[in-house]
Amino acid sequence: MFDTAQEYLEYLQQICTKVYDLPFEKDPEFTKLNSQDVVHLSPDQLDGMYQMKFLLNQYLNAILNTVSPDLKEKIESSLAIGFVRNGSFNATCSKSSTGKYAVLIYEGLFILLNKHGKLAHATNNPKIVRFCNRGDIKTLTSDDYIKFMNELFDNYKKYHFPIGALVKLDSKYLSHMVSIMLSELFTICHEIGHFINGDFDEEANFANLADHPFEAFIEDRSHEIEYKADLSAYPIFEKAAFNLFPEMEKNNFVPVLSTFFAIMGTVSNSKSESHPEAFRRMTNILAAYYSEQIALDYLASFESQEKSNEFFSRFVSD
Ligand SMILES: [Zn+2]
Repeated sequence: MFDTAQEYLEYLQQICTKVYDLPFEKDPEFTKLNSQDVVHLSPDQLDGMYQMKFLLNQYLNAILNTVSPDLKEKIESSLAIGFVRNGSFNATCSKSSTGKYAVLIYEGLFILLNKHGKLAHATNNPKIVRFCNRGDIKTLTSDDYIKFMNELFDNYKKYHFPIGALVKLDSKYLSHMVSIMLSELFTICHEIGHFINGDFDEEANFANLADHPFEAFIEDRSHEIEYKADLSAYPIFEKAAFNLFPEMEKNNFVPVLSTFFAIMGTVSNSKSESHPEAFRRMTNILAAYYSEQIALDYLASFESQEKSNEFFSRFVSD
């Protein structure tokens, strides 16, 4: 029935899309600023998903450019990755009866990563905020932006959608985009990690998605499977990340991934004790691809704010 992974993906995208009727915040000033920012884009590009799809292609190209010829062949012949609007999962995979794999990424997860990235940047330096619909940017403080961040996480857990404060940053300060993009890249590499490890070929790892007539991979079913997917994902992530950002250093990935795992731990619905697992994922990667000592120092960084500052300052280049 489905000759290519892309065909299977497109079929799933059609049947999987959910309509969200939620208390979205709107603000005429925010809409105006947004339309000014995109004034140079063509109507085609203005399609809401354009930029996300464009970035997804960039990530895929960076991965395909840097993996082994063998894996490249495997991915190109049997795997497709795309977005869906369905918050029953953050990312999952479905396999067609013809042996094609469609990796589905929930678009809300990438929107969440973007909104979080902006708020984290605003928390570090409230002066770079150009607009916020929640108050006068001259009086909003770091604490306010932290509050907005927590609210964003709460809403994501409650509605499965990242509803939160509307913030625009001064376009001169775009450094947070790198962290956001690397988090998105890792999300994809993690799924490819499952693919490499053969997790998408084990029937026991699949279940029917609520309301949908197809089976999807159950994320977080076993810690062991997840840790191994991270370990297979990291080398692919690292090469693709250098391909996208040649000026970066390996050390710069530590704070980025640590934040990413913390976000995933915070919004993961399945466990009340999700935080420890989030930092165990990071510890695993550090022990395998950095050093045992860095992994231990990372764990110690949770003991106090000072230790945390000291630890992360080691990984930021001036
Ligand atoms: Zn996984």
